[in-house]
Amino acid sequence: MGIIVQKFGGSSVANAERVLNVARRVTDTYSQGNDVVVVVSAQGDTTDDLIVKAKEINPRASKREMDVLLSTGEQISIALLAMAIESLGFPVKSLTGWQAGMKTDSNHGSARIKRIDTERIENEISKRNIVVVAGFQGINRYDDITTLGRGGSDTSAVALAAALKADLCQIYTDVDGVYTADPRKVENARKLQEITFDEMLELATLGAQVLHNRSVEMAKKYRVNLEVLSSLERLPGTKVKEVTKVEKTLIKGVAKDSDIARISVLKVPDQPGVAYKIFSLLASKRINVDIILQSIGRDGSKDISFTVPLADKDAAVDILESHKETFGASDVHWDDTVSKVSIVGAGMQSHPGVASTMFEALSEAGINIQMISTSEIKISVLIDRQDADRAVSAIHAAFLDRE
Ligand code: ASP
Ligand code: MG
Repeated sequence: MGIIVQKFGGSSVANAERVLNVARRVTDTYSQGNDVVVVVSAQGDTTDDLIVKAKEINPRASKREMDVLLSTGEQISIALLAMAIESLGFPVKSLTGWQAGMKTDSNHGSARIKRIDTERIENEISKRNIVVVAGFQGINRYDDITTLGRGGSDTSAVALAAALKADLCQIYTDVDGVYTADPRKVENARKLQEITFDEMLELATLGAQVLHNRSVEMAKKYRVNLEVLSSLERLPGTKVKEVTKVEKTLIKGVAKDSDIARISVLKVPDQPGVAYKIFSLLASKRINVDIILQSIGRDGSKDISFTVPLADKDAAVDILESHKETFGASDVHWDDTVSKVSIVGAGMQSHPGVASTMFEALSEAGINIQMISTSEIKISVLIDRQDADRAVSAIHAAFLDRE
């Protein structure tokens, strides 16, 4: 018994039946004697639909007004869930982000939580009310509404769990845990019982769409006891923690990210300062660069290639094209038909041969590797997008398939 934060995603509250199902799960937890704070996302595709509505009226709407609009999706969900909980005869209060004391910076569209003033929530808890909080939203110091970026409700939930020193933060979703690969695509994908924060962070960043990566960062920082589980079935989920004991597998998962593009800056002078110029231009546009590859200089020039989020490709190409002369490039090329496939596992730090097993699997599948990058606990390759699903299956078979 203690404080439990439960987060339910958009698909878990998509219609009346599901909202009632969530209400039953929440009230069961409450009836066991726990204090329950629930965080919900907007129903189903509401957020996408709102974006379409905005674009019909003004494709260049300010980020401030977009936040006013997008935050309404979560406000619908908190009211409906509170009504469902009322209908089961339990005491409940719904709170928007600002009512819940969710204070963020002013970076509209991808705001960061600065602090949570928890008095209101604590007050409701002390009256034994179930508290339902709108995810994904907060207010800045001017009292303007902000949103935390797509998928941000996970981060709202973890931040609340940290601020309330909750005993447990449960993220309920439409999958029943964290898998070794996308179970819809890879037949032998298995659910993990446990995964470390670092592994989860890599997987979340690399395209496994289970948890918002900032939520994992925050859970690690504040040691939040985190669990991912199904909102539809009552099954054990996956525990995310500092160290794992149960499964001693080398690799925890294979992830695919197709929301990326490769950019190559060709024939830049082989001199100090060139990479700096290129990447500071991108940084000035707040474009995140991932895998970077620089060729060996030949005849005084070299090529630099890197990947960026697909959504930033045009902005990246534009700024590089228009500044080509300042760093002396002959051409800027791009390719938006690539995918990044990665393996993640803390075990690879102490085991040689992981990279060779991965590359062997790709070679046997006849898949060409364009770029490679590694960190202590992951290896990523850039390949043709049309090969990506096959690559994931081949790599999964090499490391994770069991009889
Ligand atoms: N409703 C928001 C989105 O669709 C936030 C979330 O789902 O976590 O991105
Ligand atoms: Mg959503």
